[in-house]
Amino acid sequence: MKLERVIQYAQTLLQMSVAEGDIAVDATAGNGHDTLFLANLVGDHGFVYAFDVQKEAVDATLHRLLDNALEHRAIVLRDGHENVAKYVNKTVSAAIFNLGYLPGSDHEVVTKPNTTIQSLESLLKLLKVGGMIVLVVYHGHEGGKEERDEVIRFVSNLPQKYIHVLRYEFINQKNDPPFIIALEKVKELPRDFEN
Ligand code: SAM
Repeated sequence: MKLERVIQYAQTLLQMSVAEGDIAVDATAGNGHDTLFLANLVGDHGFVYAFDVQKEAVDATLHRLLDNALEHRAIVLRDGHENVAKYVNKTVSAAIFNLGYLPGSDHEVVTKPNTTIQSLESLLKLLKVGGMIVLVVYHGHEGGKEERDEVIRFVSNLPQKYIHVLRYEFINQKNDPPFIIALEKVKELPRDFEN
């Protein structure tokens, strides 16, 4: 198969954007798969900031890092990604979001449009030129379509002079398959930037 699957393509985009020594953000740590993936990319001189509001997710992510002896390359914060600017004050090469709920847990804790967009606004400022924000948009759950639509409205209005916005999606799959939105910063934003 030549067309990469959605999860695989998200990882390809991260791989293209993160080099050893870089700072990366996992905005929705969940079971820690992306945190571990990023921890491998940043190497011993880089660092990953991972966020999740659920204790269960923070614990699962920490365990995954410990199992792979990479806990020194990341901090796992039990806080919302909308607060990213409180913790990260360095230039970020890449960030990943998996919208929706933690697989195998309480489906009531889901990402929400307002906080997702707030986090995107902060990350766009922290992102280096050439950096990438990847969103894997799950939208089959309750509230998922509202979040999808609000996020699409927000990213569609980003000025193309500064941010290139891609949607990567298989359009003939059934049951609300996830798709990708990727934001690549191509020029530094003006200081007073607001979308
Ligand atoms: N990337 C994860 C993995 O590899 O397993 C899956 C993430 S899951 C689809 C979405 C996660 O976002 C859930 O664990 C949920 O607790 C978390 N979440 C919800 N609202 C959040 C917020 N405001 N900030 C950070 N995480 C949040």
